[in-house]
Amino acid sequence: MLRRVILIVTLALLGAGPMSAQRPPNVVIIFIDDMGYADIGPFGAINVATPNLDRMAKEGTRLTDFYVAQAVCSASRTALLTGTYPNRLGIHGALGPGSRIGLNPDELTLPEMLRTKGYATAIFGKWHIGDRPQFLPTHHGFDEFYGLPYSNDMWPNHPEAAPGTYPPLPLMEGDSVIGLMPDQSLLTAAYTARAVDFIERNAARPFLLYLPHTMVHVPLFVGERFKGSSASGLYGDVVQEVDWSVGEVLGAIARLGLDENTLVIFTSDNGPWLSYGDHAGATGGLREGKGTAWEGGVRVPFIARWPGKIAAGQTIAEPAMTIDLLPTIAKLSGATPPTRPIDGLDIWPLLAGDALAKSPHDALYFYYNTNELQAMRSGEWKLVFPHTYRTLGDQPRATGGIPVKYHSARAGLELYNLVRDRGETTDVAAQFPDVVKRLTGLAERARAEMGDALTGRIGTGTREPGRVTGN
Ligand code: MG
Repeated sequence: MLRRVILIVTLALLGAGPMSAQRPPNVVIIFIDDMGYADIGPFGAINVATPNLDRMAKEGTRLTDFYVAQAVCSASRTALLTGTYPNRLGIHGALGPGSRIGLNPDELTLPEMLRTKGYATAIFGKWHIGDRPQFLPTHHGFDEFYGLPYSNDMWPNHPEAAPGTYPPLPLMEGDSVIGLMPDQSLLTAAYTARAVDFIERNAARPFLLYLPHTMVHVPLFVGERFKGSSASGLYGDVVQEVDWSVGEVLGAIARLGLDENTLVIFTSDNGPWLSYGDHAGATGGLREGKGTAWEGGVRVPFIARWPGKIAAGQTIAEPAMTIDLLPTIAKLSGATPPTRPIDGLDIWPLLAGDALAKSPHDALYFYYNTNELQAMRSGEWKLVFPHTYRTLGDQPRATGGIPVKYHSARAGLELYNLVRDRGETTDVAAQFPDVVKRLTGLAERARAEMGDALTGRIGTGTREPGRVTGN
């Protein structure tokens, strides 16, 4: 009760809300690759020290039921940067090097939207929404790009390449390859240095800093300073270096006096790649991981911090998704959102830590593979549609960065109550036929709009990805 009174008073003191700011807020999005739900202190990590993220959560709001649109890199990143389900835009799965498709240049991205309000925009880290020249970040609204065009495991013969024998990856600056990365152990620090430098250079104007770290995606690499730093092996060391990076970014923001004008978001692009065993993260009891529509694949840790605007130490359990960030930031910045239909909705009240706020969505949809609607969430319910998914079964856990192979398993029409059964252990479809019926009706709306390969539907609201014509 006392806590609620304090919150209400706090929100009242915040007055007219974010739009009263003198200039639009800076936006920092720290996007970790393949980080599990329970990999950091605020989400239950054990044997890993994340003091900077602990502090960020204490000073900000945690969303415990925050989702990515799809549990795989390219599709997930498309959702974040467009506010749209990626399958609506023709982006499915993970794009390989040289892919002939990419995010369509006709789509309005988050950086393009913020540029109209005078923002400086930069990405330091992994892009992965098309590595052909016309799809690179500088063609999608970013002033600056330093990092990798795709995943750090994308070489021939993956995943059988033995650790230590990885071919070098192209390191890019703007549109050019500036060298080959023989040693990824320098990446986290290099991205972080760029991020701090960018904040310093742009302290006097609004900026968007997108920091999609290459880590903690396999193959794992860690800076010298963090080797052996955790109590849980290489994976923990890598998480601790990421936490250090967060501390550097928060430190720069504070040092420049920008705390009260900067929204910082920390989250992940999908759950842990479980077949990598001790080189993968933890789901904290959520079912399955990356590459599935089960909670371990699509539910990710999420923290938002903005002193004076976002409640400190708050926890919100309403469902929301990465597609919601673009429309929310449109509202905060006063920028005009895309004129084409998008799927995200403004979740500012949830981000702000308003304990009484509700999710604006009737339902959130989890597509996977090539446009299969595999599951959906509505309120406390998750409805799973009949589909084939990958699972490890009871194999021994992989060690040392060499993965084991997944088995195939089959899901039926299944209903879970995520408030009582976060681990999706008990199918209650038979007990709640009305809920199944209501959610199935909502799913039909999604299928009519975006299609569904599992039921042979073609959507009327899908758009084409960008395609390479000629060579
Ligand atoms: Mg990923």
